[in-house]
Amino acid sequence: MNIHEYQAKQVLKKYGVPILKGGIAETADEALAIAKNLGGSVWVVKAQIHAGGRGKGGGVKVAKSLDEVKILSQKIIGMNLITHQTGPEGRLVKKVYIEEGCQIAREFYAACLVDRATGRVALMASKEGGVEIEEVAARNPEAIFRVDIDPTTGLLPFQARQISFSLGIPSESLGKAVTFFQGLYQAFVSEDCSTAEINPVVLTPQGDLIALDAKMNFDSNALYRHKDILEYRDLAEEDPAEIEASKFDLAFIKLDGNIGCLVNGAGLAMATLDIIKLHGESPANFLDVGGGANKEKVTAAFKIILKDPKVKGILVNIFGGIMKCDIIAEGVISASKDVGLKVPLVVRLEGTNVELGKKILKESGLSITPADDLEDAAKKIVQAVRG
Ligand code: ADP
Ligand code: MG
Repeated sequence: MNIHEYQAKQVLKKYGVPILKGGIAETADEALAIAKNLGGSVWVVKAQIHAGGRGKGGGVKVAKSLDEVKILSQKIIGMNLITHQTGPEGRLVKKVYIEEGCQIAREFYAACLVDRATGRVALMASKEGGVEIEEVAARNPEAIFRVDIDPTTGLLPFQARQISFSLGIPSESLGKAVTFFQGLYQAFVSEDCSTAEINPVVLTPQGDLIALDAKMNFDSNALYRHKDILEYRDLAEEDPAEIEASKFDLAFIKLDGNIGCLVNGAGLAMATLDIIKLHGESPANFLDVGGGANKEKVTAAFKIILKDPKVKGILVNIFGGIMKCDIIAEGVISASKDVGLKVPLVVRLEGTNVELGKKILKESGLSITPADDLEDAAKKIVQAVRG
């Protein structure tokens, strides 16, 4: 689960990571009131959407007067902000964060993430703050420094100093840098993050380190023990199909292809996506209905797929173990009858009650193409969507 920058900053603050003062506004008048209250002479108006690259897209602007705060907020609230992370359709801005303006001597990049290769949390940092890390990684990988963190000791002060030296942080700010990185790591671990990225971390002319941006992503499987984080969830930022799927406890991720997939088991779901790609088309979603799905769950899943206008064909690929093939067949039929099946449907069933499942599908009167195995299923659905 993602949260907004202003929310992530509140989380970081709890762990001693320095942030600036600011407030959240939904109207230009609220923005003005916040700026007045903050005082000072420079403010930054920042669009709050769950995507990075806002600055380049025109969603982060410096205001040098209260009038400007109001004008810029008027402009940004309600704008359709397009960044490299929103995709070409962009994202509607509903809120702006009004933050104190900061004097910047240098900008760095810092992030904690789970490295699946080492099985540890890594702290990564770069001198090239404010720049997309993927771009730095491609152009100048030596500019990225990292330490792997032993879970039993946490981020040790010497490791934080090592990163700070690599970044060229002046000695008088070293203590502050250690506090900063340890706070970041502590927030990451305590709140069960999957990534926590601060881009940029700034060094001010006075030698302070401040988190000027913050992106945090949380492991959904751990959210049950972070009720306060769960309150930060912003449904307006999530895909409606994914919200619907989460109500039925379906593992569903929207993708940008045209073949809808209904599969049981994450491994089989991934293999299904791979084989569709292998045969030259792209999946419209990842969907694992799980092992113990009932008819209602399968119906809900199938409806979610059918509602996507980009879907030009559907592949149902089920290995019935705990899940019985006849249940799947019934779910598919009930959803198709409710919503109307207007695209080709290829079904590959195997396992428990397979014969019964096939019989139910055959007698349903729906136009369904049966497939014998995974390869056969992929070929048939690819052929079907190509017409
Ligand atoms: P994004 O990464 O989505 O573009 P950031 O929060 O990183 O958004 O803002 C973009 C840039 O704007 C930063 O790299 C920084 O240079 C500048 N900036 C952001 N917040 C402030 C602030 N409070 N004061 C001064 N400059 C800021
Ligand atoms: Mg940023």
